[in-house]
Amino acid sequence: MYQLLLAVCINGDPALCMDRRLPLGEEMNMMRCMREGLVHAQKWADDHPDLELKSWRCITPEKTPKPLEDFMVEEVGDGVFVHRGRHAIPAPTNLNDTSNIGFIIGEEGVAVIDAGGSAAVAKAALFHIRERTELPIKYLILTHMHPDHVLGAQVFRDEGAVIIGHRKLDRALKARAQTYTDNLRRLVGEEGFEGSAILLPDEGVEGERVLDLGGRTLKLEAHPTAHTDNDLTVLDEKTGLWFLGDLLFAEHTPALDGSITGWIERMKTLSDREVTGVVPGHGPVLLDWPDGLAPMQAYLVSVAKDVRAAIAKGTPMADAVRNIGEDHREDWVLFDEFHPRNVTSAYKELEWE
Ligand SMILES: [Zn+2]
Repeated sequence: MYQLLLAVCINGDPALCMDRRLPLGEEMNMMRCMREGLVHAQKWADDHPDLELKSWRCITPEKTPKPLEDFMVEEVGDGVFVHRGRHAIPAPTNLNDTSNIGFIIGEEGVAVIDAGGSAAVAKAALFHIRERTELPIKYLILTHMHPDHVLGAQVFRDEGAVIIGHRKLDRALKARAQTYTDNLRRLVGEEGFEGSAILLPDEGVEGERVLDLGGRTLKLEAHPTAHTDNDLTVLDEKTGLWFLGDLLFAEHTPALDGSITGWIERMKTLSDREVTGVVPGHGPVLLDWPDGLAPMQAYLVSVAKDVRAAIAKGTPMADAVRNIGEDHREDWVLFDEFHPRNVTSAYKELEWE
């Protein structure tokens, strides 16, 4: 099977050129592709008068890895798209497609929100972006350091994206780069790992920062320590949709890697923001606000309360980890994978109150 690879430029501007793949069907062989390529390329160019065809050639397509064949994105608002990650531990069968990825299309460019958990996942997301727009990917915004959100970054940097994160993201990633890449390689295998990498942000955000995509602006906000010490949110000011990264978990057991008191406080503060909807880092592509926060906030408040009580009673940490939070088990997916760590981490933090 062969495809046509077209080099096209927007309005003939050489600064705005890109590749476009054109599938030609299962039957296409090299000879036929060479013979009929020009006709197909010309027809495609006629259908896209805003693009100028520079050249074409025949290639064998890179196959989408099987685990990602059903990779989907949904449009949650005008020009705002979200891919829903799976609730799973990284494995060769999912290539670490385990967190949500967003992209927002402006008049001049695209911003991608989180890079996916491997290069293969990022490539699947890029495929869906290119189905919808030829515009350059101006920014890759990383909502925080966790591997399932950052390891596909190279794919978007290759597209020319500037990588933006919280001011503290750089330090956090430097400290964990080796562990994150070693773990991914071990969990998804050498083949699934290929191309995945930790990339440091080009720019760090302190406080707020506005990005212009042409006809729409994104407001980035760096938060004090909560889920991690480098949580960054993205508000699309055109639709009022708010990407919260892992400041918000739904269905998937929250993972505490910052401060439980900080996280509870921060979400209380953010709960009265006027937005039209929120995108969590894990869970459904769109939730109401602040209603979508209620289950996670109830979980965190309950864990903090029970851990404080255990510490006050002198309960050893191991016993607290065994007993606290059992009543939440039914409400969350991957409970055994994340909940005991949350109790441990809350215990260590609250011990010193
Ligand atoms: Zn996270």
